[in-house]
Amino acid sequence: MLFEEFLIACEEQLEGFLASKLPPSALFEELKRLARYIDPEEFKSFPSLKEYLTPFLHYYSVFQNLPPERQRKRAENGFKMIQKMRKLFLLTRKEEIENLKFDRINSEASVKFARGVGEARAKLLQRFGIEKVRDLLWWLPRDYEDRRKIIPLSSIRPGEKVTLLAELLNYSIKRVKDYVIVTAVISDGFGQMLLKWFNQEYITKYLKKGARYLITGVPKKNPFGPYEMNSPEFEEISGEPKREILPIYSLTSGLTQKMMRRIIRKNLAVLKVFEEFIPQTFLEKRDLLPREHAMLAVHFPKSLYEVKKARERLSYEELFLFEVALLHNKEKLKHKNLGLSKRIAGELSRRFIEALPFKPTEDQLKAFNEIRDDLKSPMPMNRMLQGDVGSGKTLVAELAIIDNFEAGYQSAMMVPTSVLAIQQYDKLREDLSKIGIKVGLLVGSMKKSEQEAVKRALTLGEIDVIVGTHALIQENVNFKDLGLVIVDEQHRFGVRQREALMNKGNLVDTLVMTATPIPRTLALTAYGDLDISTIREMPPGRSPVRTLIITENRLPELYSFIRDEVAMGHQVFFIYPLIEESEIMDLKAATEAAEFLGKEVFPDIGVELLHGKMSDQEKSGIMERFKNKETMILVSTSVIEVGIDIPTATVMVIEHPERFGLAQLHQLRGRVGRSALKSYCILVLNRGLSSEATERLRKFASTSDGFKVAEIDLRLRGPGEFMGTRQHGLPDFKVADIVRDSKLLFCAREDATELIETDPELKQHPGIKKEILERFGEKISLIEVG
Ligand code: ADP
Ligand code: MG
Repeated sequence: MLFEEFLIACEEQLEGFLASKLPPSALFEELKRLARYIDPEEFKSFPSLKEYLTPFLHYYSVFQNLPPERQRKRAENGFKMIQKMRKLFLLTRKEEIENLKFDRINSEASVKFARGVGEARAKLLQRFGIEKVRDLLWWLPRDYEDRRKIIPLSSIRPGEKVTLLAELLNYSIKRVKDYVIVTAVISDGFGQMLLKWFNQEYITKYLKKGARYLITGVPKKNPFGPYEMNSPEFEEISGEPKREILPIYSLTSGLTQKMMRRIIRKNLAVLKVFEEFIPQTFLEKRDLLPREHAMLAVHFPKSLYEVKKARERLSYEELFLFEVALLHNKEKLKHKNLGLSKRIAGELSRRFIEALPFKPTEDQLKAFNEIRDDLKSPMPMNRMLQGDVGSGKTLVAELAIIDNFEAGYQSAMMVPTSVLAIQQYDKLREDLSKIGIKVGLLVGSMKKSEQEAVKRALTLGEIDVIVGTHALIQENVNFKDLGLVIVDEQHRFGVRQREALMNKGNLVDTLVMTATPIPRTLALTAYGDLDISTIREMPPGRSPVRTLIITENRLPELYSFIRDEVAMGHQVFFIYPLIEESEIMDLKAATEAAEFLGKEVFPDIGVELLHGKMSDQEKSGIMERFKNKETMILVSTSVIEVGIDIPTATVMVIEHPERFGLAQLHQLRGRVGRSALKSYCILVLNRGLSSEATERLRKFASTSDGFKVAEIDLRLRGPGEFMGTRQHGLPDFKVADIVRDSKLLFCAREDATELIETDPELKQHPGIKKEILERFGEKISLIEVG
């Protein structure tokens, strides 16, 4: 094994001891045994290795005779010694980097002047956005080929990436319909393997019978013959290969790995333009490589440990710059002093709260206070209110509206669907008219004349609060004095739509509400410019919804259970997924299901179908009948996902749950359990669902905490999918991945905060300012660094 693998194995042993899984008497023997497996070649590469290894092992020779606390201490010191050996043997030395930089090279010149490039290759490189010599180093490897460890074919394992040295025995080209399959047979004397390429006939140019190749890829088991590897990396070799780790780049035809590696290597002197801009204190605190070092090591690392350290540095740098940009901007807005502080006596909201049939929760009051402070402050509010479904965000919104009204301004609330708009309008009108606030509704399905009347009233200030859909952002909607914009279920809107509504007033306060809890990583990136209020606590008396997973064959049981629930006056949702790609089929499935349930299963119980293609009038009619318990079972496509509030609904049945994201499932689940009644969410699994998909749903069923669901969903689907296809304002990071690098992100945020506190204008850090402009200057409108 490699020395670096040995160090990892030692750490595992030490951890095993600390976790009491390995007896103290066994530790020394284990470490010694591991040391014997170190590849002898490693001692040739690192002549002084023994000098460090012997004392390390010796440190544990009398281990078992020591008292327990000293054993612990020694085990802990072991980690430090290992870390020291890593730094010593696994990283490129400073002098090596300094020597590379010595070469004179014009980093700003066009890439065609780079060594080993020329006109033709420059054209190919420009396809990757490599324009100047200095850009070359930003073409980061997508993977690595580890030539320190060449494995005989007899000891490969399926699914594990390996590098092999073997002779090409023969190859063939097969054509099947539109496909061309190139298959090669290789052997290293210990075994044989097949290499396959699909639709890459040009590969044969590089294949020579009898030649020796270094081959890197992931072997796959083949039930009918030797292992195979699809599209491996390969390179012809004469003599013994050098022990090294080589980069694997994404390429375009006309370039090979060998060429690309040569180009990068020959131009490494360009490293010297990558000057350090991160303050030394942060580098030390976070144990990060200097910039040049990381740039070199990411291409030609000494060890996989060095790859990790290089990537860590580059990710941190990206996240740090982004966070500095966000905080710098926020700071700048603060100092603009925009002069619209609302005067709020608080009398109206006090009376409103007193008249409520329940007491607001602590979290609701806290969020309201944060909002009130924002309204009073001269800076425009830019706040997100996040809280799980049913946590009572509407009440907080109402309180904000009341304060804003008391200060003399109009409010607008935008929601994603007309069903919701009508529901919110009814609720707001009922609650707010009591204290003299006039509420209006604007949705596209209203009669033209009605719409005109509402718009006129808005302009004249005869309506204090308007609830509506996208209809609110039409050009001819004007306000007398808009002071507060609330966007409910904000993830269904794009940034532009939010801004369009904000622009209908002058320096309005904005509150966006979301029931999809935002994992902290996203809060710091996609919403890094917003202040966030969180409602974690549910109103009292709610019991969490029980989530059950059943298979199709248990549907009869489910139906009789539903009968019992309906007999108690409780109501039921059946949800069918509807996605754009298969809309017609999906709609048919939902329609047929509604017919089947209504005619065959529950002929004596009112069943209705609701879907997005219906007119607003039809939809609100159906909702009205469901609310009034004229129908007890509502079959629906996913239109009902957000916001619907029916306290007596206790059963949510979801068909094809695997087709929903977990955050979406959680939304659906939130449609029941909205009162003290015991509620159920039932996921119906179809036969043949993959074990992966089933596992995902199990995880979902095991927690009712929306924040946990969101974290799981983010990890499984990645930030882009999580945020939805709409314009999401996520920066596209080159190296960093906010899920994988979440810890680094928190560090970067902390450091950026510290930096901005001492130097809000970035006057003492021109290097940082320059980098921010270069990287994010144009991409993100939110960040205008001036
Ligand atoms: P969401 O956060 O999903 O928008 P809602 O605002 O629709 O949730 O509130 C869900 C239900 O909880 C509503 O029926 C509301 O009247 C009720 N509710 C809100 N706050 C409280 C509270 N503090 N105590 C009891 N019930 C509450
Ligand atoms: Mg809501």
